Amino acid sequence: MPRLTGGHIGKACDVNQEWECVVVGGGAAGLSGALVLGRARRRTLVVDAGEQSNRMAGGVGGLLGHDQRPPADLYETGRRELAAYPSVEYRRGQVVGGEPVDDRFRLELDDGEQIAARRVLLATGMRYCPPEIPGLEPLWGRTVFQCPFCHGWEMRDKRLAALAAGDEAVHAALMLRGWTDDVVLLTDGATGLTADDQRRLDMAKVVVDDRRIVELSGDDDRLTAVVFADGDRLERDGLLVEAPLRQRSRLAEQLGAACVQGPLASDAIGVDALHRTSTQAVFTAGDTCTEQPSVAGAIAAGSAAAMIITQSLLADEFDLPYPPQSGD
Ligand SMILES: Cc1cc2nc3c(=O)[nH]c(=O)nc-3n(C[C@H](O)[C@H](O)[C@H](O)COP(=O)(O)OP(=O)(O)OC[C@H]3O[C@@H](n4cnc5c(N)ncnc54)[C@H](O)[C@@H]3O)c2cc1C
Repeated sequence: MPRLTGGHIGKACDVNQEWECVVVGGGAAGLSGALVLGRARRRTLVVDAGEQSNRMAGGVGGLLGHDQRPPADLYETGRRELAAYPSVEYRRGQVVGGEPVDDRFRLELDDGEQIAARRVLLATGMRYCPPEIPGLEPLWGRTVFQCPFCHGWEMRDKRLAALAAGDEAVHAALMLRGWTDDVVLLTDGATGLTADDQRRLDMAKVVVDDRRIVELSGDDDRLTAVVFADGDRLERDGLLVEAPLRQRSRLAEQLGAACVQGPLASDAIGVDALHRTSTQAVFTAGDTCTEQPSVAGAIAAGSAAAMIITQSLLADEFDLPYPPQSGD
């Protein structure tokens, strides 16, 4: 059992095991990263709580080779592929805390185990925050969705609505017009469309309804109607909503990886082009830091991050030239 001492916390750190890389999260980004690390023969632990953000969707839309495949199948296949690499271990569980200790990181698992890592790949995904409307939850990821590229094909030619206000409203409604002719823009009480906005919406034959919404009505996972405060109902088959992203925990912060304001998240992990965070030896990939969330993007990012991690380990071991941290 290795014993790490000192570090900024100034106390001894007992750990049960040391890994060359701990991948936190086993979604598209984490599994992809672990696969590359396994093939690079790096001692890698994946700790995964198993709550991939698209797990409730019927299929993964737009992933080459796996289009419309149920997400659970995709992740199961990913985990099976990892089993071929003896240096990789996958564990179902959660990293509940962590801190830098000297040139390592100590991570605490939800079963109380403490582990040490030379590198950490944060592939924790993000929490999607759709509006809190009664009735939305069972429909989320099925007929209420945040991304037309993910769900638009399944919703083609149906009766759709976009719920959005402000600058995003017109854009959201017009995006949906790529998939169907029947789009209503719901603003839930917000007003203030400019003459230009209205002209564009008229051109696309998008109807605007600014009544307050009180509920979504559904049958199982199918949206049937949007219910307004005046009791009236608008029958719809699908609803596009805004769903800002938020970190799922404070882990990045605990490890010293700075978060920044991004277009989708107020606390996206700051990352450079090589997937390095503001803390040397902590890397991130996938929804944690992207401006365009997608399974394909997360797989690509996880893979690229793992290649950089491997190079950074080799740099430590054999003094291999390695790009300096941005800002150095
Ligand atoms: C409803 C919905 C439907 C979508 N549909 C599509 C689609 O059809 N096509 C498409 O391309 N994209 C789709 N997306 C986007 C896509 O799902 C994400 O971009 C992608 O899953 C991001 O992968 P990731 O690995 O970064 O995060 P995730 O898939 O969210 O995986 C992160 C994993 O890390 C785990 N984790 C988090 N914190 C910890 C911790 N502290 N310890 C251990 N484990 C932890 C989580 O439990 C989870 O298993 C959809 C998104 C949503 C919300």
